[in-house]
Amino acid sequence: MRHSLAHVLATAVYEMFPDAKFGVGPAIENGFYYDFDLPRTLIPEDLEILKEKMRRIIKANYKFEKANISADNAIKHFKKAKQPYKVELINDLKKESKPLKSKKGKLATRYSLLATIYKTGPFVDLCSGPHLDSTGEINSKAFRLTKISGAYWKGDEKNKMLQRIYGVAFATEKELKNYLSTIEEAEKRDHKKLGRELGLFSFHPESPGSAFWHPKGMVIWNEMEKFGKSLRAKYGFQEIQTPILAKNELWKKSGHWDHFKDNMFSVKADNETYCIKPMDCPFNILIYKEQTRSYRDLPIRFTEIGRIMRNEKSGELNGLLRARYLTQDDSHIFCLPEQVEKEITSLIKMVKEYYPAFGIMPEFFLSTRPDEFLGKKSDWEKAEKSLASALRKEKMKYGIKEKEGTFYGPKVDIDAKDALGRKWQLATIQLDFQMPQRFELDYIGKDGKKKVPVMIHAAVFGSFERFIGILTEHYAGAFPLWLSPVQVEIIPVSDKFQKYGEQINSLLLSAEIRSQIRESSESLGKRIRTAQNEKINYMLIVGEKEVKAKSVAVRDREKGDLGVMKLEKFLEKIKKELKDKK
Ligand SMILES: [Zn+2]
Ligand SMILES: [Zn+2]
Repeated sequence: MRHSLAHVLATAVYEMFPDAKFGVGPAIENGFYYDFDLPRTLIPEDLEILKEKMRRIIKANYKFEKANISADNAIKHFKKAKQPYKVELINDLKKESKPLKSKKGKLATRYSLLATIYKTGPFVDLCSGPHLDSTGEINSKAFRLTKISGAYWKGDEKNKMLQRIYGVAFATEKELKNYLSTIEEAEKRDHKKLGRELGLFSFHPESPGSAFWHPKGMVIWNEMEKFGKSLRAKYGFQEIQTPILAKNELWKKSGHWDHFKDNMFSVKADNETYCIKPMDCPFNILIYKEQTRSYRDLPIRFTEIGRIMRNEKSGELNGLLRARYLTQDDSHIFCLPEQVEKEITSLIKMVKEYYPAFGIMPEFFLSTRPDEFLGKKSDWEKAEKSLASALRKEKMKYGIKEKEGTFYGPKVDIDAKDALGRKWQLATIQLDFQMPQRFELDYIGKDGKKKVPVMIHAAVFGSFERFIGILTEHYAGAFPLWLSPVQVEIIPVSDKFQKYGEQINSLLLSAEIRSQIRESSESLGKRIRTAQNEKINYMLIVGEKEVKAKSVAVRDREKGDLGVMKLEKFLEKIKKELKDKK
């Protein structure tokens, strides 16, 4: 339906600009687009006109009429219609298709059958389909043309810039409305915008893809780090720290140099090539190999705050959600094959303790063997079984992501839905049979012989950067008390009570509450609004009455006025909320 709408849009454009030249028009997530080479630049008002034309085309109920013609005939047709882009596409198809031997031993070509064209009313397009039977099947109230942008032909900046029209489309008008309001809400919550407004982090063209963390952003980061470290300690992990650079011989051994080279930053020193780590695993392995390990030493559980870099394309960077400089809450377990299930169970338990603190509900998935895989099928089957059994033991409902394991082992993926219902992949628990072999890891078994341990990789936040980006949008910048950069602001009703306010402030600070007080001559209402806009959790308003009774008037960011409380009672309340991470 979405792709059929791309044809309907092209038909409307053809009506409006008979000289238009057509690029391509695929369906995309939630909608479609089409690229055009037009005699003039489109303006937003054009979208309204095109939408009306599209509605008429839908109403006319044109059939999508299919015809198979030879590539050469198709070229003739599109040359006559002055459609150079379509001609180029057919020529590309001809180049790609390999000559086939015909029965008589002569060379025939597959492309002689290749071109499929579709006619929609007056408009003929080169397309392999499929489409709806006719335009009338489209709900004319459930689509919208959303934006115009520039797009290079074939995505190559050496080519001409075309004009791209985007649309969204759904089966029902209600779904369309829901989608549009979600998008509007998402724009309001954009973490790059909120990060700047709330003074959490910023981005600078001097260092693309790397966040600069401001004092308030660091508060959130440090709270997460503290929480993560305490849970890791509870589950028996030992913290390590490794360098960021290594000679490329290490990356050749790990396989990264072969498979990941384009994504790695490298530098030359001592006449050698060094790479900045895109992952921590090989470094963790070097520490493991430092000693002879016996079966009695296993499992060994390392955890590291790993700073890594990946050379993402500059056009694909998206604030904290897609960055080049990342900080992982990484961990690696080295264990005996028979310990795998227990370790996985314990990791799942740990993950379950993380997410409630962030108000997000995790969903578990088992990603199974892909078509291309390393190792023995029987090992894979055993591993998948032990992952499934660990999930069941933890009474977790889980879905299957068929063939989505990585080539070196199956994994458990943990996805979560945010406040807008968007899904994010967060944690992964990855079994790995390959790396231990590549690096010749071993331990001395019960029988005194050398054996290869199993390695498990697990990151819960994934990266601090991406997780904070997701949280910022999930909370719309209003962080829960335990993560909040400023938890309390004291607001004296007038100068006279500034001193009392400052006393309370020092008291809260010494109780490790992040509290502040400002000197301000602005009205009480204005100061409350400022604190509210800065998403400070509690405002304590103090005046004559409060000084006398050694109390505070408490205002909650969301619930408003909570009434007057003795200071000790407020302290008790806030300490309990911090402890419960609510
Ligand atoms: Zn089509
Ligand atoms: Zn790893």
